[in-house]
Amino acid sequence: MTVQVEVQTFPLFINGEWQQAKSGETFEVFNPATGNVVARVARAGEEDVELAIKAARDAFDKTDWKNMKPKERAKVLNAIGHGIAEHAEELVYLETISSGGTVRRVSSNDVLQMVDLFNTMAKFVKEYPFSETLPSPPFPGPAHNFIWREPIGVCAAITPWNMPMLIATWKIAPALAMGNTGVIKPASFTPLTTLKLAEIISKFVPPGVINVVTGPGAEVGEALVRHPKVDKVAFTGSTEVGRSIMALAAGTIKNTTLELGGKSPNIILEDADLDIAVPGSLFGVFLHSGQLCESGTRLFVPDKLHDEIVDRLVSLTKTLKPGNPLDLATDVGPVISKKQKESILAYIEDAKRDGATLVCGGNEITVEGCENGHFIEPTIFTNVTNDMKIAREEIFGPVLSVIRYSNIDEAIEMANDTIYGLAAGVWTRDVNKAYDAARKLQAGVVWINDWHMLRNDAPFGGYKQSGIGREMGRHSLDAYTQLKHVHTSMVPEAHRKTWYQLLFSNTNQS
Ligand code: NAD
Repeated sequence: MTVQVEVQTFPLFINGEWQQAKSGETFEVFNPATGNVVARVARAGEEDVELAIKAARDAFDKTDWKNMKPKERAKVLNAIGHGIAEHAEELVYLETISSGGTVRRVSSNDVLQMVDLFNTMAKFVKEYPFSETLPSPPFPGPAHNFIWREPIGVCAAITPWNMPMLIATWKIAPALAMGNTGVIKPASFTPLTTLKLAEIISKFVPPGVINVVTGPGAEVGEALVRHPKVDKVAFTGSTEVGRSIMALAAGTIKNTTLELGGKSPNIILEDADLDIAVPGSLFGVFLHSGQLCESGTRLFVPDKLHDEIVDRLVSLTKTLKPGNPLDLATDVGPVISKKQKESILAYIEDAKRDGATLVCGGNEITVEGCENGHFIEPTIFTNVTNDMKIAREEIFGPVLSVIRYSNIDEAIEMANDTIYGLAAGVWTRDVNKAYDAARKLQAGVVWINDWHMLRNDAPFGGYKQSGIGREMGRHSLDAYTQLKHVHTSMVPEAHRKTWYQLLFSNTNQS
């Protein structure tokens, strides 16, 4: 990448305009690969949150945005997709220097998926059953009945730092597709691309339809969740914060969807093709230095193949090249922050203390030219048991736990023995075994001979404490609508209506 964006200050994006925070305060955004400041961003307070909600409220209540015909809305969504493609280079650059995602992944996956998501939603919106007519039933009497799906209103989106622009679009695209307006609060490590996205989108929607407020979660995020004029919260982040959001949303009985953490099990069966299963399992856990919610962090291997699989895992892992994520040759970039690095290293120490065997990595590393970056070697532990801390808690770093099993039932039982249920995978040549495992695994997505293969036309979300609701796919649109039943009586005389006799004993009305 050659494009250079100077260190600039990003204001808030409210009502179609850049606006400084009322307090005038800003915070710094750092490049996790170099430790350098890459931008200053407005630090919103309650007053700014109020303004953003008012802008979104007015755009919903007082403009025709929510009433736009599906065909017209599809054109808007296609135009946004096109706008993202036009700004791809800048988005990719900003995403790479703030999230640490490799430019190889961000440019060849994230930004393309974003464009495709808006195009997919444009297609879905044209086919969406906004209105269904019910047959006239004998009970409760002749009537014409509609079920309408209407937008919910003002949606707050709270997003994490790991794949910030892609995850923001998982919420923005269906929300706009269904005619809602929104306020987005990105993670403070990575607000740049969300702000840029809002600017791009604002070209195609009325002012106030999309707003971004940046600042601390406990302040700005909570203010959004608590606010009575926000109708829905869509949150992606840790299960811990998800719990507090759910509790806070209860105060206003807010419609809430949650995409939370994971500890996804990955099972290699005895008949698997190891030439695919080994690199695939490493891809499943080390992409983005393990900072993906659906990473396959627990690898279940059959006793018989254990040593061969571990040898292959270790030798292939050693070929992974850490480096500056802006370098196309880099395989693994940094983790997001010093604090995150220390947390991962602490998990590694816990694993050693608990009796797991470190067979690869385990240390922080210094990368030439990125001496102040936060890099950790891709790390593999064997002799892990499913009750160890590293097998139970989400580490969100490049750490793979290898767990042995003697038969598939035991593997599935251990795989499901977790509070999470986001993703799972199985590697096998036998399609019957694959589908049998897929049925038994408690997860929102099961990959067979693959990993990380999310699609814009398929739902993504968690079982158990990995979340509530689904993003992407047709089903995600439902989460941004509410149902209305409209009943029109076809009986013109009061005394002939089914209910008349329920109250009136005199049925001799003329
Ligand atoms: P986090 O929970 O710390 O923060 C997520 C967002 O919530 C941030 O914008 C943060 O500022 C905000 N926030 C923090 N405290 C808040 C509060 N009290 N009220 C309202 N908002 C608050 O998560 P993170 O560290 O940014 O991201 C990593 C986590 O996200 C991991 O657990 C990962 O598994 C999860 N994740 C899940 C998915 C998914 O689709 N299921 C995708 C990506 C990441």
